[in-house]
Amino acid sequence: MPSDCLFCKIVEGTIPANRVYQDDLCIVFPDINPQAPTHLLVIPKQHIASQAKAAAEDTPLLGHLLAVAADTARRRKLDRGYRVVLNTGDEGGQTVNHLHLHLLGGRPMTWPPG
Ligand code: AMP
Ligand code: ZN
Repeated sequence: MPSDCLFCKIVEGTIPANRVYQDDLCIVFPDINPQAPTHLLVIPKQHIASQAKAAAEDTPLLGHLLAVAADTARRRKLDRGYRVVLNTGDEGGQTVNHLHLHLLGGRPMTWPPG
């Protein structure tokens, strides 16, 4: 785990976050700069730098993150829909190099994304 990773520090608890869900594998907390009425981040406790760096053995974990996003959306009653975003790399818009899913909802989303 890189000592300068912001999200590892959130997992450790040295940087605070309001965990709305956690289990053995992941935590869910609000994005500090929300882009929708619901904007949560789903992150693995394990440090994986990005989707591009995920190994074959991480596949069940990636599936779990998607399932947690769906469960969270159900709990938040995002019945009209929501968007899950996984920014990857510089051109993908990734700014924190610890893999994370954005769960966005509560307003209509547009396409294409910016
Ligand atoms: P990305 O640009 O896909 O890498 O997303 C990183 C996200 O992390 C951005 O939406 C930031 O607003 C969010 N973020 C950065 N620092 C924090 C923090 N301390 N707590 C919660 N969210 C954060
Ligand atoms: Zn990390």
